[in-house]
Amino acid sequence: MNDAPALQPSSDLISASVLESGPAPAAAAEAAAAPEPVPAVLAQPARAPRVLAVANQKGGVGKTTTAINLGTALAAIGQEVLIIDLDPQGNASTGLGIDRRNRLCSTYDVLTGGSALRDAIVATGVPRLHIAPATIDLTGFELEIGQASDRAFRLRDALMPLRTPAPGATDFAYVLVDCPPSLNLLTVNAMAAADAILVPLQCEFFALEGLSQLLKTVERVRDQLNPKLTIHGVVLTMYDARNNLSGQVVADVREFMGPKVYETVIPRNVRVSEAPSYGKPVLVYDLKCSGSEAYLRLATEIIQREKELCAG
Ligand code: ADP
Ligand code: MG
Repeated sequence: MNDAPALQPSSDLISASVLESGPAPAAAAEAAAAPEPVPAVLAQPARAPRVLAVANQKGGVGKTTTAINLGTALAAIGQEVLIIDLDPQGNASTGLGIDRRNRLCSTYDVLTGGSALRDAIVATGVPRLHIAPATIDLTGFELEIGQASDRAFRLRDALMPLRTPAPGATDFAYVLVDCPPSLNLLTVNAMAAADAILVPLQCEFFALEGLSQLLKTVERVRDQLNPKLTIHGVVLTMYDARNNLSGQVVADVREFMGPKVYETVIPRNVRVSEAPSYGKPVLVYDLKCSGSEAYLRLATEIIQREKELCAG
C-alpha cells in the first residue's frame, strides 16, 4: 500500500486571484510573485522542462482544451508552463486570448528557422502560463521543410535553449505541445521532442478507434527518432454521467490501457466549451465548475506520476 498522504486537489487549493492577471500589471506581478501557498507535495525543484505532447490524430477529442486547462492548472499550483501551439488552426492561441495581430512571431517562424523559440513566447492572462502561438502559416511547414534532413527534429532543436537557464528568462517546468489532428510532420516533431505523450480520448463509441495507429506511430518514433519517448497517460474527456455509453467507454479504455489511464476523468461541462470564446481557460472563466475541478485533479495526478517516473 502506498501510504503517502492522499492529495485532495480541488479549486480550494488556489484562489481565482492566482489565475487571473488583474487590471493593473503590478497586481498581476504580485499575484505571480506571491501565489497561494503551494502544498509541499506539489512543490518542484528547478530542472530541465518536461515536454509533454498532447496528441491524438482525431479532431475534437479535447487536445486543445486539455493543453489550455491542464497548463492553467499546473500554473495555478505553482509551475512555470509553456504551451506550444503546433496546430495551424491556432485554437490554443485563440483560447488563451492571443489576438491574431499579436502573433508576429509564431511556431511557424520557429520551426522554419526564422526565430528562436524564446522570441515567439508571449505571456497569457494567467500568471506563469506562456504560449508560443500558431498561425495558419504552419499548414505550409510540411511542404517547405519535408525534404530537409532535420525535418523531424525542428522542435526538439528549438527547445534546446530552454534546457539551459538564461538570465532573466523563465525556467519552464512543463512544456505542453498542442498537436494538430493528424499524424503529420508537425505531430512527429512534437513526438520527437517530447519526453512523453498525453493522449486525450473522448468518451464516445469510437474512442478506441485509431488508438492502435497512434500507439504504432509512438513505437516508430521511439525506434527511429526518440528512444526516451513514453506514453505519460490517457485522459478520458467529455464524460457524460447520464449516458450509459460513457461509462462503458471508460471501462473499455481502462481494460485496454490499464494503469496508463489517469484516474481523473474530465466531465462534459458546458462551461469548458464556453470559456474559449472569452479567450480564457475554464479555470479563469469559472473556477468552481466541474470541468475546472477535474483539470486541477488531473494536474496534481500528473505531477504525482512525474514524481514516480523520476523516482523509478
Ligand atoms: P481537439 O483539440 O482535439 O480538436 P478541442 O479541445 O478543440 O479538441 O475540443 C473539441 C470541442 O469540444 C471544442 O468545442 C471544445 O470546447 C469542446 N470540449 C472539449 N472538452 C470539453 C468538455 N470537457 N466539456 C464540454 N465541451 C468540451
Ligand atoms: Mg485542437
